[in-house]
Amino acid sequence: MEATRPNILFIMSDDHAAHAISAYGSRINQTPHMDRLAEGGVRLTNCFCTNAICTPSRATILTGQYGHVTGVRGWEPLDNRRPIQVQKLLQSAGYNTAIFGKWHLGHGLTNSVWKEDTRDPGSVPADPAGFDDWCVLPGQGAYYDPDFFTPEGRVKVSGYASDVTTDLALDWLSGKRDPSKPFFLCVHHKAPHRPWNPGDNYKHLYENEEIPQPETFDDDYRGRPAAAAAKMRILGDLNREDVKADPPEGLSDPERKNWYYQRYIKDYLRCVASVDASVGRLLDYLDASQLADDTLVIYTSDQGFFLGDHGWYDKRFIYEESLRMPFLMRYPREVAPGSVGEALLTNTDFAPTLLDYAGVDAPQEMQGVSARAMLRGQTPAGWQSSLYYRYWNNGGHHIAAHYGIRTLTHKLIYVYSKPLGTHNSTEEPALEPYWELYDLTQDPMELNNIYDDPANRALIQELQAELERLQAKYGDEPLHESIPQQGAPPP
Ligand code: CA
Repeated sequence: MEATRPNILFIMSDDHAAHAISAYGSRINQTPHMDRLAEGGVRLTNCFCTNAICTPSRATILTGQYGHVTGVRGWEPLDNRRPIQVQKLLQSAGYNTAIFGKWHLGHGLTNSVWKEDTRDPGSVPADPAGFDDWCVLPGQGAYYDPDFFTPEGRVKVSGYASDVTTDLALDWLSGKRDPSKPFFLCVHHKAPHRPWNPGDNYKHLYENEEIPQPETFDDDYRGRPAAAAAKMRILGDLNREDVKADPPEGLSDPERKNWYYQRYIKDYLRCVASVDASVGRLLDYLDASQLADDTLVIYTSDQGFFLGDHGWYDKRFIYEESLRMPFLMRYPREVAPGSVGEALLTNTDFAPTLLDYAGVDAPQEMQGVSARAMLRGQTPAGWQSSLYYRYWNNGGHHIAAHYGIRTLTHKLIYVYSKPLGTHNSTEEPALEPYWELYDLTQDPMELNNIYDDPANRALIQELQAELERLQAKYGDEPLHESIPQQGAPPP
């Protein structure tokens, strides 16, 4: 195989935050196999999603487009007839393509295979297209003995989801793929998505340990009405299915909160351990079959997650813990082992980057850019230094819809709190629109909303101008008043 057309192994988990990977300095767990990937390649420290929720992020990863372009803003299906999808373009260019595991891009499906799980009859076809072989979980899928959909129909596979997904991928690599072609293989884990059911191998991990609480565990949400309204608190919103036991009698509130946290975070980390083991098995296979040098391996997750940070589980907010995606990539022919990339990347850039490695021109309709030069340590002059983010799903976990930008030093957020017809959105919480501003160099935990400080007026105007530039560039509609009035802070 010519070195200019690497195989691509794209491993993605669901809701795995970078701060639960030891290569990213985790305080709470070890991920030796993900670390092995980082040691053999590059680790990105500023990789971010453009909407921190599963389905829209997955659509963006495949298309290189924002949710207002793909039509996947909440839980809308991705129309599989859309031609601008990375796997279709790679397939047309001669790649052998396959996906195993979580798909989650179709709740309303017309393909006969899918009809029994259709939520919205008559909506767009959204089963996987552009994959030569596929075997995917219906919806969120099950952790134990999961059903899968295939082009031939529904099958049940015994075992634990992370292990079974890995087995399917290894079977395909070792016997079912076309060895005359380079491959594009997506291994998409269900883990560590809620309700965090661990595999048998890891059920007892951390059993006699106390996992440290994050620094912002007891955040009071001062100056942040949307954060105060969110219903994803460790104490109050985790349910019995999440924690799989009843709290002991007689605990104080802080003790109960810690009890829920320990129950939650241990199961979450046990699920992560199963994904880490999967990464190890796949890397072992590449080594044993002499494919490691010619295979580009990526590990990422569809977005980050709150691991007790701000007193929360879940994601959705533009705040750092959910915005940041882990991104580890190994490609020995081009990327220096043990390197760290600090330049800013978003999930709109994934598809153009993969196409670049495959020697395929990215279509104009893709809104991201190739990071290939950045990944080999040669970040081009004038590289992007801000990103546009929009969370559309007003009301999911009672979180208000918002948009904003993150630069290398600041974050400006406009909370507009309207459903705007987005699938699965509600009128509540009907917050009065308002702004948040954070100086990430002084306040990396985003506890102090400094939007109302008159000293920041020039900074705010500059950031609003950049926000509007990005909205115009990507073709999204602003909802805010452009220029804040002097001396009139928001409600
Ligand atoms: Ca997710």
